[in-house]
Amino acid sequence: MHASQAMAVKIVNPGGINAFKFNQRALDLDDKNSFYNLSPRKILKVLATSLYELGVPHPLHVHGCNLGVPGNISTTLNTIDAMEGLPIHLTHVQFHSYGTEGDKKFSSGAAHIAEALNDNENISLDVGQIMFGQTITASGDSMKQHSGSSHAHPNKWVCMDIECDAGCGVVPFRYRDKNFVNALQWCIGLEIFLLAKDPWRVFLTTDHPNGAPFTMYPHLIRLLMDKSFRNDMLHGINKSAQSASVLGSIDREYSLYEIAIMTRAAPALSLGLSDRGHLGESATADITVYSDHENKETMFSKPDYVFKNGNIVVEKGKVTKTQAGNTHVVKPEFDKGIEKHLKKYFDRFHTVKMGNYKISDDELESYSNKSMSTHPCTTR
Ligand SMILES: [Zn+2]
Repeated sequence: MHASQAMAVKIVNPGGINAFKFNQRALDLDDKNSFYNLSPRKILKVLATSLYELGVPHPLHVHGCNLGVPGNISTTLNTIDAMEGLPIHLTHVQFHSYGTEGDKKFSSGAAHIAEALNDNENISLDVGQIMFGQTITASGDSMKQHSGSSHAHPNKWVCMDIECDAGCGVVPFRYRDKNFVNALQWCIGLEIFLLAKDPWRVFLTTDHPNGAPFTMYPHLIRLLMDKSFRNDMLHGINKSAQSASVLGSIDREYSLYEIAIMTRAAPALSLGLSDRGHLGESATADITVYSDHENKETMFSKPDYVFKNGNIVVEKGKVTKTQAGNTHVVKPEFDKGIEKHLKKYFDRFHTVKMGNYKISDDELESYSNKSMSTHPCTTR
């Protein structure tokens, strides 16, 4: 975290990206990497415990095993159990909430996820809602991107290895409302939003750009706040997906307060940014002002004013000024002795020397033209 100037740790398909390089094409929670003999469960437990004990505010950010695979709901529920109360954040959980019921062996696991979230206060999640239309998927999960490459639209994609340590894949994709799987994915995301009770532990995301670009957020907010609009949209999608989903029977509409919590206050709290996400004394004045409108998509698409650090940057929906934000970092204490071992590893396996890999405070500030905010660790 010090070397890369990070504020949190995300683990992507724990152990799976490495296993892929040994020709394993799937790695469930208790499967073992054929070379290192390590399971995702072990990796998750060690990382979640470490971050908790170091007092890093944001819990381990988990992109779980088996992304996109029908039946992965049991993996996701087992992952929650495996944490035994340790805090974790499950990211883009819509892609990890699939059952295998029905003729097409693809069903919604949203009710199970929502129940597990409601029952386990150590868990937070973001949805990773999909929206219909063209997008691009970009992920470090090369195992998943390789298996999804046959669906590339248009048919051009790339998967690559990075320094033998990581992976990356870019696969363009078009979500279609008349396609059963895509239509049900759309329902599953909305079901999770609407069945999860606590807006402090559910965050509004499209896993940009994988589920949809973030420019679709106003449309998504309208789907959550406006039941009749949601039902109109529901009636236009694939019929089998409609009947496989409980979405039409859910009456809940998010209030403006719940939207404000889910999109502002809760993410700030989750990341340990105590100076934002609220309008209290000495808070950073990052404020958006909207005029109320019956159509919430219209309302959220065009703010009257956006203040960044107290300065007006948007007026009547037009950007009037650009202003760099801060780089937020968290620097937990560590034993410097570890660097001796890490240096050996860098010298033997990497094309980059450890000294070049580390980003100093000065470098970060001079190259990014941003000032740094270091946020404290919490004592536990
Ligand atoms: Zn991810």
